[in-house]
Amino acid sequence: MRLEIDGWSSKITFSATHIIPGHYKCGRLHGHDYAINATIFGSVGGEGVIMDFISVKEFLRKVAAELDHKVLIPLRDEGVNDKGDSVHYCLKGKEYLFPAEDCALLDVGVASAEELANFVLGRVAEEVHFPDNVTRIEIGVDEGEGQGAWTGMELGK
Ligand SMILES: [Zn+2]
Repeated sequence: MRLEIDGWSSKITFSATHIIPGHYKCGRLHGHDYAINATIFGSVGGEGVIMDFISVKEFLRKVAAELDHKVLIPLRDEGVNDKGDSVHYCLKGKEYLFPAEDCALLDVGVASAEELANFVLGRVAEEVHFPDNVTRIEIGVDEGEGQGAWTGMELGK
């Protein structure tokens, strides 16, 4: 059985700006409304539920708040130089200089929906406690309604 959390109707959303280097259109600085979705797979426990998913929703809202109204900076891009108070982002002859407080510095190579989904999944796996009957979690990050990237992992017990 599975539990589904829809980010749009659960208000697990954020607005942010990013760049997809080398893309003919998305290589320019632009923004999206994002939503974080989750699916939790497991067996139904003695209380008739897989788990109380309020804690998962609260955690996902916290992650969304960290990214909200920020410039999403992929720290693994070699064109990124974190200067402390500011972030210098140089790609294919273009240079950007952002105040650090306006940026979300992410341990990803590209600030794409795919890599954002991996980033959120990593945070969930590290910081959310799941009961033993939960076997798998999946995270989806939508870039606008109806289009997004999903990733998942088995929970080893
Ligand atoms: Zn985009």
